[in-house]
Amino acid sequence: MDFSRPDNARTINRLKVLSVLRKGSSSRAELSRTLGINKVSVGEIISSLIKDGLITEGEKDFSAPGRPATKISVEKDAGRVFAFEVKPRSVSVSVSDLTGRILRFEQIPKTGEEWKENTAKAVERMKGDGRARIYGSALVSVSDDIPSAIPEPVIRIPPAIAEAAAEEAKLGPLEGMLFLSWSYSLDAAVRKGDLIPLPHFPHMRVQREGACRCGGRGCLEAAAGGSALAEKTGIPTIRELVRKGAESDAVKGAIKSLAMALSEAVQALSASSVMLTGEMSALPDSSYAYLQSLLLQMLPPDRQDVTVYRATAGDKGAREGAAAIALDAFFYSRPLLDRLAAIENLSSLTSGR
Ligand SMILES: [Zn+2]
Repeated sequence: MDFSRPDNARTINRLKVLSVLRKGSSSRAELSRTLGINKVSVGEIISSLIKDGLITEGEKDFSAPGRPATKISVEKDAGRVFAFEVKPRSVSVSVSDLTGRILRFEQIPKTGEEWKENTAKAVERMKGDGRARIYGSALVSVSDDIPSAIPEPVIRIPPAIAEAAAEEAKLGPLEGMLFLSWSYSLDAAVRKGDLIPLPHFPHMRVQREGACRCGGRGCLEAAAGGSALAEKTGIPTIRELVRKGAESDAVKGAIKSLAMALSEAVQALSASSVMLTGEMSALPDSSYAYLQSLLLQMLPPDRQDVTVYRATAGDKGAREGAAAIALDAFFYSRPLLDRLAAIENLSSLTSGR
């Protein structure tokens, strides 16, 4: 793509305008200042985006001196994205508007083969009256068992990345945070500049025995994953496990294994702190205190600053974060804009500007 060609430049400026509006409404003058694009061009971009039905003009704002400014916002109902979360016993489907707000959510039990058809029906119900364009789907799944009726394009997102994105959408970037997703499976990610997936974390060796789905033995997954715990305790769902099983030997043992793996990972990655996400993050405060104390016992004296935080989104994190990532990928084209920004930074360095 030649970014200096006028039609490409216009496309990119349209995306830049939308990405600013994603954060909230803005006037033409503010957009022009924020993006460093002249007012005439901003006016043209706004007109074309209004014509395409992607943005709307709001009330005039008389609060500031001078000519009243009109606030422009994204037309949130112009498009939708889907998010699918596949778990061992159920599939959840949600649909979000262009601001990432979840409009509808359905949970489909995964029994027999009907769940695939039931998922397809849920998708049809959630597409709405057809006026909103469907931009694509995010899929959060650790298994290969995926529904067939997923609106395309599809982006596959590891659980920890989705849940981290949900937290950072509320709290801002959490540089240095090690995100530990604890649900039926385990997953991890770390924010080091980018949000980096850590797919091998669940397979760190923490015990001598215990067959793991990866084919290895003694993996963290086999010691502490929700499915493994359900088997050990006979409590089938995580919701119940969190409520009834927090003080059980199985959960306490799992916390011990997690502390071992976390202390290694925190040191190796120079992580600043840990945030527990996913369904098991609903464990009571006493479990957090136990994990925190074990972790500090295992960490060296100069790493006693590490804190274990609870995610704010609970079991909603995966779908909220997945929707946000799908919007960025398919509607706001943020990956493209990030690459462009990197190219611009590089060229400003090499040209000595
Ligand atoms: Zn394994």
